[in-house]
Amino acid sequence: SCQLWSEPGSFPEARSSGPMALAELYTQYNRVWIPDNEEVWQSAEITKNYRTGDHVLHLLLEDGTELNYPVDPAPLPPLRNPDILVGENDLTALSYLHEPAVLHNLKVRFVESKLIYTYSGIILVAMNPYKQLPIYGDAIIHAYSGQNMGDMDPHIFAVAEEAYKQMARNNRNQSVIVSGESGAGKTVSAKYAMRYFATVSKSNSNAHVEDKVLASNPITEAVGNAKTTRNDNSSRFGKYTEISFDQTHQIIGANMRTYLLEKSRVVFQSENERNYHIFYQLCASALQPEFKHLKLGHAEEFNYTRMGGNTVIEGVDDRADMMETQKTFTLLGLKEDFQMDVFKILAAILHLGNVQMTAVGDEKSSVSDKHLNIFCELLDLDNDKVAQWLCHRKIITTSETVIKPMTKLQALNARDALAKKIYSHLFDFIVERINKALHFSGKQHTFIGVLDIYGFETFDVNSFEQFCINYANEKLQQQFNLHVFKLEQEEYMKEDIPWTLIDFYDNQPVIDLIEAKMGILELLDEECLLPQGTDENWLQKLYNNYINKNPFFQKPKMSNTSFIIQHFADKVEYKSEGFLEKNRDTVYEVLIDILRNSTFHLCANFFQDHPVPISPFRSTITVKSAKTVVKPHNKQFRTTVGSKFRSSLYLLMETLNATTPHYVRCIKPNDEKLPFEFDSKRVVQQLRACGVLETIRISAQSYPSRWTYIEFFSRYSILMTQHELSLIDKKKICKTVLQRLIQDPNQYQFGRTKIFFRAGQVAYLEKLRSDK
Ligand code: ATP
Ligand code: MG
Repeated sequence: SCQLWSEPGSFPEARSSGPMALAELYTQYNRVWIPDNEEVWQSAEITKNYRTGDHVLHLLLEDGTELNYPVDPAPLPPLRNPDILVGENDLTALSYLHEPAVLHNLKVRFVESKLIYTYSGIILVAMNPYKQLPIYGDAIIHAYSGQNMGDMDPHIFAVAEEAYKQMARNNRNQSVIVSGESGAGKTVSAKYAMRYFATVSKSNSNAHVEDKVLASNPITEAVGNAKTTRNDNSSRFGKYTEISFDQTHQIIGANMRTYLLEKSRVVFQSENERNYHIFYQLCASALQPEFKHLKLGHAEEFNYTRMGGNTVIEGVDDRADMMETQKTFTLLGLKEDFQMDVFKILAAILHLGNVQMTAVGDEKSSVSDKHLNIFCELLDLDNDKVAQWLCHRKIITTSETVIKPMTKLQALNARDALAKKIYSHLFDFIVERINKALHFSGKQHTFIGVLDIYGFETFDVNSFEQFCINYANEKLQQQFNLHVFKLEQEEYMKEDIPWTLIDFYDNQPVIDLIEAKMGILELLDEECLLPQGTDENWLQKLYNNYINKNPFFQKPKMSNTSFIIQHFADKVEYKSEGFLEKNRDTVYEVLIDILRNSTFHLCANFFQDHPVPISPFRSTITVKSAKTVVKPHNKQFRTTVGSKFRSSLYLLMETLNATTPHYVRCIKPNDEKLPFEFDSKRVVQQLRACGVLETIRISAQSYPSRWTYIEFFSRYSILMTQHELSLIDKKKICKTVLQRLIQDPNQYQFGRTKIFFRAGQVAYLEKLRSDK
């Protein structure tokens, strides 16, 4: 028997173990896809009918080359869809559902038709055009408003409309989940969705609310976005914004939760990257009279802003942006003295970064610096004390307290740790204040949440940050799988189709490996509690616990310093170095004490043990996960970054699970930011990482093509005999014809209103039709 298509190792997600095309479809003039080094796949036409047992398939490539393509024992290559299906606005309508089909369809739409949006079942795939398109105006919003998703071209507004409509119709909370890699267009998409809600729900009575909700974006971007090599305006944190609506579906307020701000950026930027925008905005405004007392200057003058080597972004005017930032603060009701407090803290951080340490012998260091004076002046701190504790540390043992000098390097690290701590508190504080400004007094009827969070990430070197991000993506993928599964089930029930078992990939085991008892995070927390804990010891514990015991965990062959996790999207190797420190995230307690006792209220408040919680979401929680009831176990009295992130993910998942989700997957089509340029390799990589191909695989295993009886009748009446056509019951005709044309009854199902086809069957019918 011949082997039917399953593709060479590189992209296993595209492989379908479900019933695929029949060998007899490999006939002359039919087309297939074969692997290609440049384009991932290339098209070829079959020049001679294939017979079971043949060792080669005779092909003609598009450049005219003839090729004997080996197919034994290699599988037959995937078949190309009939042209009538290409350019479809829903990928799942393709009869052959596999990677090359998906890729080709996206490419045709994007490159030839300049269409950036395509559905893949319930997912909206959004390709970044890197060009302003005239498709986001208010007129377009109104065109989508009130329409059905299926009647309109795919669009972010169609997804937003669907969420809004379902909220209004079913009185149920909704969420729009946007993901994708850096620069793919998540933040842009999330903002368009929010603008859609603000526009369609505009009331005359309370017009400012929508503006305020939208105004939260520029502020969080000023303090949480930065220029990276991938994106000039890269969000360095995750964000979930809940927009609240009243009984009449009008916006009454919003609330925002943020995730994992990249703190290291405050003190370190790679070449050609920048610190957070707000620092440059402030430096660009240094000469303004109201900022004189901050003693700032050009961004080139500060370590923390000049490290990347280029302090300007092409096309960005930092001074003008500062005025915008100030205006937006004001619009949100955050007064000038509040703003000045914020700017004072930012300026203090910049001065702290310029504080020089002097080595005193090998073991000690000292500090005396005009920037230290300004830092202390701005934050109202005792100069001598800060100088002392930047260069010394207090070690408390059971019997005594020792004061130990720090080396220059240790002192510099202490300085940077302090700067990061202050900035992250400032960030949280600003978010809290925005939430307060968007807080409403009335009763929330329903909400729509918009999640803008980084997609799955793999770099050459992956650390704690990637680990957390990928963990979050595992959780989101699981939430997605369960949702698709539920929808399929409902559709089958609605159509009276007998329940068919679909092989769903459940990633609970990987999630368990990370978050369950004795999981990676718990072992990390335990190690962090040990005074002598090290990254190496922790890694050794991981090896001892999971090697050969957990199929999702591996030790790299050539390394003793990393571990590998088999994620749903890919294998990722993580370097253990730095995990403990990043998870602990501690600053020398004595320095914190000094800040806590400052008379500068805002600064002091950052470091109180129990600041009054402003957000209503800060309470302790017990959450149901997909399968088990898990209580985030908080053994240690100081919470670690990992355990805090785990709890916030529990809470996020609980929230999302109680909503109707809508999915947007953003794709970055090339790395050069070129308009409408499609790099097949990069696109395939992302389709795989964001789960689109996995969904396609699931679809391919069930019944990817679904036609109503009427659609079927009108397209295939040409295949019907006179006798069949003479019957009166059209549904009956469809059934009779299909039973005659496709012998294997497992290849289709008759539902109440639709016929469900296995993969490849519609292509087969198309072939019969074109042979007529
Ligand atoms: P990050 O993870 O780094 O935050 P992101 O996915 O949020 O990345 P965006 O900041 O939304 O990416 O988009 C990057 C850039 O791509 C935008 O600044 C814009 O120039 C362009 N872009 C994205 N989406 C669109 C769009 N729909 N139309 C035009 N340009 C777009
Ligand atoms: Mg972003």
